[in-house]
Amino acid sequence: MSRIAILGGGPAGCGAAYKLRAENKAEVVLFERNDRLGGNAGSFERGGHVLDYGSHRLHPSCAEEVMRDIESLLGADLLDRPRHGRIRLLGKWVHFPLKPVDLLFHLDKRFTIGTFRDMFRKVLPGRKDEGATFASVLEANLGPTICEHFYFPYARKIWGLEPEAMGAIQARRRVASGSFAKLIRKILGQVPGLRPKGAGRFFYPRGGFGQISEAYAARAAELGAEIRLATEVVGLERLPAGWRVRSRRDGEERVEDFDRLWSTIPLTILGRLMGEGLPDEVETALGSLDYRAMILVYLELDQERFTEFDAHYFPGAELTMTRMSEPKNYAVRTKPENRTVLCAEVPCDRGDELWNASDEELGRRIARDLELTELPLARPPVAVFSARLPQAYPIYQLGWEPWFEALDHWARSLPRFLSYGRQGLFAHDNTHHALAMAYAAVSCLDGEAFDEGRWAEYRDDFSHHVVED
Ligand SMILES: Cc1cc2nc3c(=O)[nH]c(=O)nc-3n(C[C@H](O)[C@H](O)[C@H](O)COP(=O)(O)OP(=O)(O)OC[C@H]3O[C@@H](n4cnc5c(N)ncnc54)[C@H](O)[C@@H]3O)c2cc1C
Repeated sequence: MSRIAILGGGPAGCGAAYKLRAENKAEVVLFERNDRLGGNAGSFERGGHVLDYGSHRLHPSCAEEVMRDIESLLGADLLDRPRHGRIRLLGKWVHFPLKPVDLLFHLDKRFTIGTFRDMFRKVLPGRKDEGATFASVLEANLGPTICEHFYFPYARKIWGLEPEAMGAIQARRRVASGSFAKLIRKILGQVPGLRPKGAGRFFYPRGGFGQISEAYAARAAELGAEIRLATEVVGLERLPAGWRVRSRRDGEERVEDFDRLWSTIPLTILGRLMGEGLPDEVETALGSLDYRAMILVYLELDQERFTEFDAHYFPGAELTMTRMSEPKNYAVRTKPENRTVLCAEVPCDRGDELWNASDEELGRRIARDLELTELPLARPPVAVFSARLPQAYPIYQLGWEPWFEALDHWARSLPRFLSYGRQGLFAHDNTHHALAMAYAAVSCLDGEAFDEGRWAEYRDDFSHHVVED
């Protein structure tokens, strides 16, 4: 039986470890550099609070096979919850997901009139050219009002780029309501009677979102997988029939040989682990492709609840954060009593001013944001702390495709090797997508052989994934 090294203990890594062992297809050693599982979709505990790295929900669009396994792994710990968020738009609050009544009565009148005008123009005859940028595609499909007031300022903060400098993929595949038809379907989906199964709902594990990855890994370990935490892979070397993996734990290095290598770590880090002698186009791609980073700023408050909402969305350019969640509201937690935590999401670049800011400074900025949105803190926070995600979102800047193709082509040419998952395919995907990729990879492994043709078909399917917020 093959021995596979899995790099990364996020959902993609843990899902594959479980599936490989459940189907008894390979021996598995999983390497995770952090001291906990789940990657960006992980959780941690602090002061009795269970916290995620920003707002995380399991979306009902999850593939059936994956959903069945998650239900069986988590049992009664998997909660089915109504979505209850708000967007701050032009100084007003609207429910998210949008409801028809919001469109008519709760939005700023300029926004409502502008949106209806854009919708009317859209149905007038005459083909509108979509162009090839995030800005042009969204504008052609949704008109200027929604773009200028919602998608564009939000995008500037999330990716740190002008909408005109971002590739069309971000709009075509990654904006769930990227046309009026889709938007209307979503809004009507909130009307009782017209609501499709799962609309306006999400699943959430009682023990935090990271419980999904932890449960996969725990079951994989019961089935014989070796899960190594706090173990960073620091070097990779190709062998005639496999791979040599150099890993480091507590300053101690270990070198081992494997038959196959499955990587879910960022493609750009992977390239660097392969050492010297990479083709020129791969070197260029490694220096050009990048991921946007994110700081999660946690404010602990001495009150039972801050608001009844799970998340607040902030497209406004005047605010540092893009979204703020209240973790206690995701799992209807009652503990700890008289304490709650707010988690503010602050996109940034590694090494920039925000990335290097102290917790005190970040706490001050978030408190100021809350004042500007008429949600002032009643008292100063009891504690402020932060977490940093070096690779939160792939950046699809204009012209990114040839760089990705060079890296992807090179990675696919490596024998007995697979790169997949959100980081491994440079795909702005959800957790259920990362898990579906893991299941697809395992289904391609047949004894000692990996069915590349079938994997190519799956890759085509993955390119149609639409990310949900
Ligand atoms: C702010 C935010 C909110 C999100 N909200 C949602 C949501 O609501 N619903 C949803 O479904 N998805 C959401 N996502 C997406 C979700 O987090 C990802 O889809 C998921 O984490 C992808 O899993 P993965 O295993 O592919 O990658 P990751 O989770 O990134 O895991 C990769 C792992 O590789 C490890 N690693 C890297 N380098 C090394 C090395 N050299 N050696 C060993 N290990 C290494 C990392 O530590 C990490 O654990 C959100 C993401 C962000 C950033």
